[in-house]
Amino acid sequence: MGNQKSDNIAGNVVDVTDRLPALAAVGTPAEIVDAFNRFCAQGDDPLSAHLFFQMVEQAPIALSITDAQATIVYANRMFEVVTGYRREEVIGKNESILSNQATPKSVYEALWAAVTDKQTWTGKLVNRSRSGDAYLAELTISPVLDQNGKVTHYLGMHRDVSKVHELQRRLTHQKGLLETILDTAPVVVALLDANRRVLLDNQEYKKLLGDLRGQEPAEVLLQAVADQAGAVLPQPGERGDDFRNLEVRLDFASGASRWFVCSATWLDDPALSASSYFEQQTRDITCLFIASETTRQRREHERARTEELRAGLAEHLRVGSMREALAAASFQIQQPLNLINAVTAMLSRSGSNEHLLPVLEQVAQSARCAYDTLQAALPAEGDEPLRHINLNEVVKEVLELSTDRLLKNGIVIDWKPTAALPHFTGQTKLIRGMIMNLVDNAIVALSESDCDDKAIVVETAQDGGVLVLRICDNGRGIDAADRAKVFEPLHCGWSDKTGHAGMGLPLAQETASRHGGSVSLQDDEGKGCCLVVELPLAQG
Ligand code: FAD
Repeated sequence: MGNQKSDNIAGNVVDVTDRLPALAAVGTPAEIVDAFNRFCAQGDDPLSAHLFFQMVEQAPIALSITDAQATIVYANRMFEVVTGYRREEVIGKNESILSNQATPKSVYEALWAAVTDKQTWTGKLVNRSRSGDAYLAELTISPVLDQNGKVTHYLGMHRDVSKVHELQRRLTHQKGLLETILDTAPVVVALLDANRRVLLDNQEYKKLLGDLRGQEPAEVLLQAVADQAGAVLPQPGERGDDFRNLEVRLDFASGASRWFVCSATWLDDPALSASSYFEQQTRDITCLFIASETTRQRREHERARTEELRAGLAEHLRVGSMREALAAASFQIQQPLNLINAVTAMLSRSGSNEHLLPVLEQVAQSARCAYDTLQAALPAEGDEPLRHINLNEVVKEVLELSTDRLLKNGIVIDWKPTAALPHFTGQTKLIRGMIMNLVDNAIVALSESDCDDKAIVVETAQDGGVLVLRICDNGRGIDAADRAKVFEPLHCGWSDKTGHAGMGLPLAQETASRHGGSVSLQDDEGKGCCLVVELPLAQG
């Protein structure tokens, strides 16, 4: 019965042969023709059946049709090309003829479980061509069902994906190699997209991410490069200007400072998305960011510098207190001098007591002379050149210089720097002297206090275009009545006035105002005293 049907259908094909030159390959079993007819032509349109057959025959993929036991009943031309077998050699044989015996049994079991359950299966098998060469076949098997839903045939489609596989393996290997190299490199490396999102990073980068408590290192370092080294960062989506070896400093909540020399190169990557396939111009912008830590070298340098500063500290303190005393004396002379000048002017205008005028002028002259002498004796400070100053760095120096006094008084320092502060322009020695004064005040306040947990909180911050330094102690505080007076010259509120001329805060204020800023008392919210220094980044 089956044969008869096959013959009939084969007969139809023969009819088609009469009309069309290209036909089924010699030896193509009748069942295949049957299958083709049932696939697309519903058996009553021989022309469609023929076209469909030619499509399959000339398809650029190895096609085979098997019976339900995987015995090959048809193979197309591409099958011959891929496997190296001529179809006469494989028709009637099981597909296992292609097996290289290197595919795990479990793969075949999965294959058969799917196809016998009338599902399409796609997977990879290791095949062997007629010449004995192994190749990786990407195979899809679709069951062909009869009218009763029973599997009668399988349609197998496969192509040689050895080259793609090799390429993928090589890519994976090279990526692994690259990652290993990056991971062992002692520098922070990150590849960023145009919106500064991290596409690839290395172990050092991940370590820094942990140290920054989840803050993206690339973001923090790039911002520091812009703030501290003046680099101009591109807008999101834009290409930036490359920069090389710009050193920045990061200050961590723990109080530690670390230095990094940063470089960035913007690259044009070929766009990978399918939509950009025909647009050769389309490029994705990426940024290769590299930061090499120079903390150890910096520490060495800093240690040497602190030693140098410490050696000069005695001189600094001597000059500071001399300056304070001379400033106080000048101030004290200035007041009566102003008074004498006013009286002299009054007497000259009124014409009375004229005999007093020469005396007064003589007194004024000697007072002016004394004032000028004192002014001339004030240690010079104006010649110091302007520099780019990192506020955190100067604060840290002062704290290091004050270590002995802090320890002696049992004071704990809570140093809370803002990680990346922009530099400001100023006179380093003046700024250092001002901070020294404020820290000294806090130490004296705590030494005069009887609290058990003596602490000074020192914090830096950036508030828009202003750098803010806050020095807060939990010492004796300042009485409400004295709060307005502390910035007046010669006011001294310490219990022990030895060595205090009452010029510390006025001089600190003068230094801040020289830099376009100010020193003020923070509104009292609790115990102790809080002084706030504000220094504008851009001075007029
Ligand atoms: P086999 O004894 O043939 O089979 C191994 C396991 O597969 C068996 O233990 C059993 O679990 C399962 N199995 C086998 N036959 C059946 C079945 N009729 N019904 C249910 N489960 C069964 N293999 C290749 O290696 N390369 C190919 O390119 C390839 N192409 C195929 C194309 C088609 C359309 C089909 C239907 C199968 C194809 N196969 C191919 C699978 C092939 O028929 C063999 O199953 C396989 O090669 C393993 O052969 P074997 O001699 O090692 O073991």
